[in-house]
Amino acid sequence: MNKEIIAIDGPAGSGKSTTAKLVAKRLGFVYLDTGAMYRAITLKALRNKIDPKEEEKLSRMARESKIDLTEIEGENKVYLDGEDVTELIRDPNVSRLVSDISVHKNLRGVLVSKQKGLGEKHNLVAEGRDTTTVVFPQATLKFYLDCDLKERAKRRMLELETKGIRTSLQEQQDELSRRDKIDSRRKVSPLRIDPEAIVVDTTNLTIEEQVDEVIRLYRKKKKNEISL
Ligand code: C5P
Repeated sequence: MNKEIIAIDGPAGSGKSTTAKLVAKRLGFVYLDTGAMYRAITLKALRNKIDPKEEEKLSRMARESKIDLTEIEGENKVYLDGEDVTELIRDPNVSRLVSDISVHKNLRGVLVSKQKGLGEKHNLVAEGRDTTTVVFPQATLKFYLDCDLKERAKRRMLELETKGIRTSLQEQQDELSRRDKIDSRRKVSPLRIDPEAIVVDTTNLTIEEQVDEVIRLYRKKKKNEISL
């Protein structure tokens, strides 16, 4: 039987991750953070001093890497070649470089096939930049979460602060808008609004409201499918 997939795309800081995580928990689905995979490869590239332009080396590295996304005692963990890198992949050095590395076609192909494989085994809430358009075009329901840049920068700054990393609003705003540009202008799988996606502006919504809206629309869709 086909698996249920809720796919959520949108720019950084739009609330995708928190929303997707909580929706997955409430529905008993697996949470798939595709950005964590690109971040894990970026961390490894930094450690191995591979230039972001070296597509062949990066793709080979991605093919030879083992990335596991698992939930342990309610916490989402990211393992790279057996090492817990959950915190390390959120480092600002990784955030700065990840979009430059994510532009490469062959590297994306490696990660997309891992993601599709998970979608064959589990009911998923997947989030990223191309989950609605490329990875899961067949998704049961698609969302595009949008949010005002200033609000996104504020959220990111507060998130980093809880980890003891101090940055300024301006610094976060500059970085997010740089990443948005690269992610939406690249040739391969750019961030865009899929025609089937429901656009939700989260600027003035709480996380609870975002989660409730996704679940409400999912239940409505399933109810309509049954009554057809
Ligand atoms: O979701 P997150 O902000 O952690 O993603 C980090 C980066 O990974 C994005 O800015 C983007 O460059 C890349 N990415 C991607 N495709 C995805 C998910 C993330 O290119 N599906």
